[in-house]
Amino acid sequence: MEYKKISDHCGYYQAAVNIGYIHADGKGFLIDAGLEAAAAKKVVKHLQSNNLPLTHLFITHAHSDHFGGARYLKENFQIIVIAPDLEAAIIENPVLEPIYLFQGTYPVQELRNKFLEAPSVSVDRKIQAGTETIDGVSFQIHSFPGHSYQQIGIEFDSILFAADAYFGVEALYKHKIPFIVDYKKTLESLAALSLLRVKGSVPGHGSYEESYQETVQINIEWHQQILKLTEEFVKQQGACSFEALFAYLCRQKDVNIPHLSSFLLFRTAVGAYIAQLIESERAIFKIEDYQLIIRANM
Ligand SMILES: [Zn+2]
Repeated sequence: MEYKKISDHCGYYQAAVNIGYIHADGKGFLIDAGLEAAAAKKVVKHLQSNNLPLTHLFITHAHSDHFGGARYLKENFQIIVIAPDLEAAIIENPVLEPIYLFQGTYPVQELRNKFLEAPSVSVDRKIQAGTETIDGVSFQIHSFPGHSYQQIGIEFDSILFAADAYFGVEALYKHKIPFIVDYKKTLESLAALSLLRVKGSVPGHGSYEESYQETVQINIEWHQQILKLTEEFVKQQGACSFEALFAYLCRQKDVNIPHLSSFLLFRTAVGAYIAQLIESERAIFKIEDYQLIIRANM
Protein backbone atom coordinates (compact mmCIF):
# COMPACT_ATOMS: atom_id res chain seq x y z
CA MET A 1 0.00 0.00 0.00
CA GLU A 2 1.71 3.11 -1.25
CA TYR A 3 0.88 6.70 -0.28
CA LYS A 4 0.41 8.88 -3.34
CA LYS A 5 0.50 12.59 -2.76
CA ILE A 6 -1.87 14.59 -4.96
CA SER A 7 -1.58 18.10 -3.49
CA ASP A 8 -0.38 19.76 -0.29
CA HIS A 9 -3.66 18.72 1.34
CA CYS A 10 -4.73 15.55 -0.45
CA GLY A 11 -3.39 12.10 -1.20
CA TYR A 12 -4.40 8.46 -1.10
CA TYR A 13 -3.15 5.05 -0.12
CA GLN A 14 -3.32 3.05 -3.31
CA ALA A 15 -4.41 -0.56 -2.95
CA ALA A 16 -7.13 -2.89 -4.25
CA VAL A 17 -9.41 -0.46 -2.40
CA ASN A 18 -8.03 3.06 -2.14
CA ILE A 19 -8.08 5.00 1.12
CA GLY A 20 -8.09 8.78 0.69
CA TYR A 21 -6.52 11.31 3.02
CA ILE A 22 -7.13 15.03 3.50
CA HIS A 23 -4.94 17.06 5.82
CA ALA A 24 -6.18 20.55 6.70
CA ASP A 25 -6.20 22.90 9.66
CA GLY A 26 -4.39 20.41 11.91
CA LYS A 27 -6.96 17.71 11.23
CA GLY A 28 -6.69 14.48 9.26
CA PHE A 29 -9.64 13.02 7.38
CA LEU A 30 -9.52 9.50 5.99
CA ILE A 31 -11.86 8.59 3.17
CA ASP A 32 -12.88 4.96 3.68
CA ALA A 33 -11.08 2.38 5.79
CA GLY A 34 -10.25 -0.58 3.55
CA LEU A 35 -11.46 -4.17 3.75
CA GLU A 36 -10.07 -4.99 7.17
CA ALA A 37 -8.07 -3.85 10.17
CA ALA A 38 -4.78 -4.82 8.50
CA ALA A 39 -5.28 -2.15 5.80
CA ALA A 40 -6.23 0.51 8.35
CA LYS A 41 -3.18 -0.40 10.47
CA LYS A 42 -0.83 0.21 7.54
CA VAL A 43 -2.40 3.62 6.97
CA VAL A 44 -2.07 4.55 10.64
CA LYS A 45 1.58 3.46 10.68
CA HIS A 46 2.34 5.75 7.74
CA LEU A 47 0.45 8.67 9.27
CA GLN A 48 2.23 8.27 12.61
CA SER A 49 5.68 7.98 11.11
CA ASN A 50 5.05 11.20 9.17
CA ASN A 51 3.50 13.03 12.13
CA LEU A 52 0.21 13.42 10.31
CA PRO A 53 -3.07 13.73 12.24
CA LEU A 54 -6.02 11.34 12.17
CA THR A 55 -9.21 12.86 13.53
CA HIS A 56 -12.07 11.93 11.18
CA LEU A 57 -13.21 9.11 8.92
CA PHE A 58 -15.61 9.54 6.02
CA ILE A 59 -17.29 6.32 4.90
CA THR A 60 -18.52 6.90 1.35
CA HIS A 61 -20.83 3.90 1.21
CA ALA A 62 -21.64 0.75 3.17
CA HIS A 63 -19.68 -1.86 1.22
CA SER A 64 -17.38 -4.00 3.37
CA ASP A 65 -14.29 -3.28 1.31
CA HIS A 66 -14.73 0.41 2.17
CA PHE A 67 -15.46 0.18 5.91
CA GLY A 68 -14.04 -3.16 7.10
CA GLY A 69 -11.15 -1.34 8.82
CA ALA A 70 -13.41 1.28 10.47
CA ARG A 71 -14.02 -0.51 13.77
CA TYR A 72 -10.28 -0.92 14.36
CA LEU A 73 -9.80 2.83 13.79
CA LYS A 74 -12.70 3.79 16.03
CA GLU A 75 -11.61 1.49 18.87
CA ASN A 76 -8.00 2.63 18.82
CA PHE A 77 -8.15 6.32 17.93
CA GLN A 78 -10.29 9.30 18.86
CA ILE A 79 -12.02 9.71 15.53
CA ILE A 80 -15.35 11.05 14.34
CA VAL A 81 -17.03 8.69 11.86
CA ILE A 82 -19.06 10.42 9.13
CA ALA A 83 -21.42 8.80 6.59
CA PRO A 84 -24.67 9.45 4.70
CA ASP A 85 -27.86 8.45 6.49
CA LEU A 86 -28.96 5.30 4.65
CA GLU A 87 -25.40 3.99 4.31
CA ALA A 88 -24.96 4.62 8.06
CA ALA A 89 -27.93 2.34 8.76
CA ILE A 90 -26.03 -0.51 7.08
CA ILE A 91 -22.64 0.46 8.57
CA GLU A 92 -24.22 0.25 12.02
CA ASN A 93 -26.12 -2.96 11.13
CA PRO A 94 -23.90 -4.65 8.56
CA VAL A 95 -25.91 -7.89 8.43
CA LEU A 96 -28.26 -5.84 6.24
CA GLU A 97 -25.96 -6.35 3.24
CA PRO A 98 -26.12 -10.18 3.22
CA ILE A 99 -29.83 -9.78 4.04
CA TYR A 100 -30.58 -7.66 0.97
CA LEU A 101 -28.36 -9.74 -1.29
CA PHE A 102 -30.19 -12.88 -0.13
CA GLN A 103 -33.50 -11.21 -1.02
CA GLY A 104 -34.50 -10.58 2.57
CA THR A 105 -34.11 -14.15 3.72
CA TYR A 106 -31.92 -14.35 6.81
CA PRO A 107 -28.51 -15.10 5.28
CA VAL A 108 -26.93 -18.53 5.45
CA GLN A 109 -23.62 -18.71 7.30
CA GLU A 110 -21.65 -18.83 4.04
CA LEU A 111 -22.75 -15.25 3.31
CA ARG A 112 -21.59 -13.88 6.64
CA ASN A 113 -18.05 -13.29 5.43
CA LYS A 114 -15.77 -10.24 5.52
CA PHE A 115 -16.50 -9.35 1.88
CA LEU A 116 -20.23 -8.94 2.54
CA GLU A 117 -20.41 -8.12 6.24
CA ALA A 118 -17.85 -5.84 7.87
CA PRO A 119 -17.68 -5.30 11.66
CA SER A 120 -20.30 -2.74 12.70
CA VAL A 121 -19.20 0.75 13.67
CA SER A 122 -21.28 3.60 15.07
CA VAL A 123 -21.57 6.67 12.87
CA ASP A 124 -21.15 9.95 14.78
CA ARG A 125 -22.29 12.34 12.11
CA LYS A 126 -24.72 11.89 9.21
CA ILE A 127 -24.12 14.05 6.15
CA GLN A 128 -25.88 14.94 2.93
CA ALA A 129 -24.82 16.43 -0.37
CA GLY A 130 -23.85 20.10 -0.27
CA THR A 131 -21.25 22.14 1.54
CA GLU A 132 -20.41 20.62 4.91
CA THR A 133 -18.17 22.26 7.47
CA ILE A 134 -16.74 19.68 9.82
CA ASP A 135 -14.80 21.01 12.81
CA GLY A 136 -13.84 24.10 10.85
CA VAL A 137 -12.93 22.39 7.57
CA SER A 138 -15.30 22.83 4.60
CA PHE A 139 -15.94 20.10 2.05
CA GLN A 140 -18.12 19.80 -1.00
CA ILE A 141 -20.10 16.60 -0.58
CA HIS A 142 -21.47 15.09 -3.80
CA SER A 143 -24.32 12.64 -4.06
CA PHE A 144 -23.39 9.66 -6.28
CA PRO A 145 -26.10 7.02 -5.87
CA GLY A 146 -26.40 4.02 -8.21
CA HIS A 147 -23.52 1.78 -7.16
CA SER A 148 -25.00 1.90 -3.68
CA TYR A 149 -28.15 3.56 -2.37
CA GLN A 150 -26.72 6.81 -1.03
CA GLN A 151 -23.05 6.88 -1.92
CA ILE A 152 -21.18 10.17 -1.55
CA GLY A 153 -18.05 11.63 -3.10
CA ILE A 154 -15.89 14.17 -1.26
CA GLU A 155 -14.31 17.22 -2.87
CA PHE A 156 -11.61 19.24 -1.18
CA ASP A 157 -8.96 21.56 -2.62
CA SER A 158 -10.41 20.83 -6.08
CA ILE A 159 -9.61 17.11 -5.70
CA LEU A 160 -12.49 14.65 -5.88
CA PHE A 161 -12.62 11.38 -3.96
CA ALA A 162 -15.28 9.70 -6.07
CA ALA A 163 -15.55 6.33 -4.25
CA ASP A 164 -17.20 3.74 -6.52
CA ALA A 165 -19.17 6.26 -8.59
CA TYR A 166 -16.89 5.08 -11.41
CA PHE A 167 -14.22 2.40 -11.70
CA GLY A 168 -10.73 2.58 -13.09
CA VAL A 169 -10.56 0.85 -16.48
CA GLU A 170 -8.69 -2.18 -15.07
CA ALA A 171 -11.35 -2.66 -12.40
CA LEU A 172 -14.06 -2.51 -15.10
CA TYR A 173 -12.30 -5.22 -17.10
CA LYS A 174 -11.95 -7.31 -13.95
CA HIS A 175 -15.56 -7.03 -12.77
CA LYS A 176 -17.12 -7.20 -16.26
CA ILE A 177 -20.60 -6.59 -14.84
CA PRO A 178 -19.93 -3.85 -12.26
CA PHE A 179 -22.00 -3.89 -9.08
CA ILE A 180 -24.91 -1.46 -9.27
CA VAL A 181 -28.26 -1.26 -7.54
CA ASP A 182 -29.84 1.36 -9.82
CA TYR A 183 -29.00 1.83 -13.50
CA LYS A 184 -30.59 5.26 -13.97
CA LYS A 185 -28.95 6.72 -10.88
CA THR A 186 -25.60 5.18 -11.85
CA LEU A 187 -25.76 6.95 -15.22
CA GLU A 188 -26.95 10.21 -13.65
CA SER A 189 -24.06 10.09 -11.18
CA LEU A 190 -21.61 9.45 -14.04
CA ALA A 191 -23.07 12.39 -15.98
CA ALA A 192 -22.76 14.63 -12.91
CA LEU A 193 -19.14 13.49 -12.47
CA SER A 194 -18.25 14.47 -16.03
CA LEU A 195 -19.57 17.97 -15.47
CA LEU A 196 -17.64 18.64 -12.26
CA ARG A 197 -14.89 21.21 -12.43
CA VAL A 198 -12.11 19.69 -10.35
CA LYS A 199 -8.37 19.26 -10.90
CA GLY A 200 -8.63 15.50 -10.76
CA SER A 201 -10.32 12.51 -9.21
CA VAL A 202 -9.49 9.31 -7.31
CA PRO A 203 -11.87 6.37 -7.73
CA GLY A 204 -12.29 3.69 -5.04
CA HIS A 205 -10.63 1.18 -7.34
CA GLY A 206 -8.07 2.60 -9.77
CA SER A 207 -5.68 5.53 -9.95
CA TYR A 208 -5.88 9.29 -9.56
CA GLU A 209 -6.34 10.95 -12.93
CA GLU A 210 -6.54 14.57 -13.96
CA SER A 211 -8.43 13.73 -17.14
CA TYR A 212 -10.70 11.28 -15.32
CA GLN A 213 -13.60 12.28 -17.60
CA GLU A 214 -12.29 9.83 -20.22
CA THR A 215 -12.52 6.99 -17.70
CA VAL A 216 -16.01 8.15 -16.73
CA GLN A 217 -17.01 8.04 -20.41
CA ILE A 218 -15.74 4.44 -20.66
CA ASN A 219 -17.87 3.60 -17.60
CA ILE A 220 -20.94 5.17 -19.22
CA GLU A 221 -20.47 3.17 -22.42
CA TRP A 222 -19.80 0.00 -20.42
CA HIS A 223 -23.17 0.23 -18.64
CA GLN A 224 -24.98 1.20 -21.84
CA GLN A 225 -23.55 -1.86 -23.59
CA ILE A 226 -24.77 -4.22 -20.83
CA LEU A 227 -28.22 -2.62 -20.93
CA LYS A 228 -28.25 -3.07 -24.72
CA LEU A 229 -27.35 -6.79 -24.38
CA THR A 230 -30.14 -7.16 -21.81
CA GLU A 231 -32.67 -5.43 -24.03
CA GLU A 232 -31.69 -7.33 -27.18
CA PHE A 233 -31.98 -10.70 -25.47
CA VAL A 234 -35.45 -9.93 -24.08
CA LYS A 235 -36.57 -8.59 -27.46
CA GLN A 236 -35.25 -11.60 -29.32
CA GLN A 237 -36.74 -14.11 -26.85
CA GLY A 238 -40.05 -12.29 -26.50
CA ALA A 239 -40.12 -13.55 -22.94
CA CYS A 240 -37.56 -15.25 -20.75
CA SER A 241 -37.01 -16.19 -17.15
CA PHE A 242 -34.87 -14.05 -14.89
CA GLU A 243 -32.48 -17.01 -14.61
CA ALA A 244 -32.14 -17.40 -18.39
CA LEU A 245 -31.39 -13.70 -18.83
CA PHE A 246 -28.92 -13.73 -15.94
CA ALA A 247 -27.07 -16.74 -17.38
CA TYR A 248 -27.02 -15.16 -20.87
CA LEU A 249 -25.44 -11.91 -19.62
CA CYS A 250 -22.87 -13.75 -17.49
CA ARG A 251 -21.88 -15.92 -20.47
CA GLN A 252 -21.70 -12.93 -22.81
CA LYS A 253 -19.46 -11.02 -20.40
CA ASP A 254 -17.52 -14.17 -19.42
CA VAL A 255 -18.11 -13.56 -15.74
CA ASN A 256 -16.46 -15.86 -13.21
CA ILE A 257 -18.85 -16.88 -10.41
CA PRO A 258 -17.10 -19.30 -8.03
CA HIS A 259 -19.45 -19.07 -5.03
CA LEU A 260 -22.78 -17.93 -3.65
CA SER A 261 -21.48 -14.49 -2.58
CA SER A 262 -20.40 -13.55 -6.09
CA PHE A 263 -23.55 -15.12 -7.58
CA LEU A 264 -25.72 -12.84 -5.43
CA LEU A 265 -23.64 -9.73 -6.18
CA PHE A 266 -23.93 -10.33 -9.93
CA ARG A 267 -27.62 -11.19 -9.64
CA THR A 268 -28.25 -7.87 -7.89
CA ALA A 269 -26.36 -5.98 -10.62
CA VAL A 270 -28.23 -7.80 -13.40
CA GLY A 271 -31.45 -7.01 -11.53
CA ALA A 272 -30.60 -3.30 -11.87
CA TYR A 273 -30.36 -3.55 -15.69
CA ILE A 274 -33.63 -5.49 -15.82
CA ALA A 275 -35.30 -2.96 -13.52
CA GLN A 276 -34.26 -0.24 -15.97
CA LEU A 277 -36.07 -2.07 -18.82
CA ILE A 278 -39.16 -2.34 -16.62
CA GLU A 279 -39.09 1.29 -15.44
CA SER A 280 -38.59 2.57 -19.00
CA GLU A 281 -41.56 0.38 -20.08
CA ARG A 282 -39.52 -1.72 -22.51
CA ALA A 283 -40.39 -4.89 -20.60
CA ILE A 284 -42.82 -6.09 -17.98
CA PHE A 285 -42.61 -8.61 -15.19
CA LYS A 286 -44.97 -11.57 -15.34
CA ILE A 287 -45.28 -14.49 -12.99
CA GLU A 288 -45.89 -17.61 -15.06
CA ASP A 289 -45.86 -21.16 -13.78
CA TYR A 290 -44.31 -19.91 -10.53
CA GLN A 291 -41.44 -18.23 -12.36
CA LEU A 292 -40.40 -14.61 -12.74
CA ILE A 293 -40.66 -13.86 -16.45
CA ILE A 294 -39.44 -10.77 -18.26
CA ARG A 295 -41.65 -10.09 -21.25
CA ALA A 296 -40.69 -7.69 -24.02
CA ASN A 297 -42.84 -4.61 -24.35
CA MET A 298 -41.12 -3.01 -27.35
ZN1 LIG B 1 -18.61 -0.32 -3.44
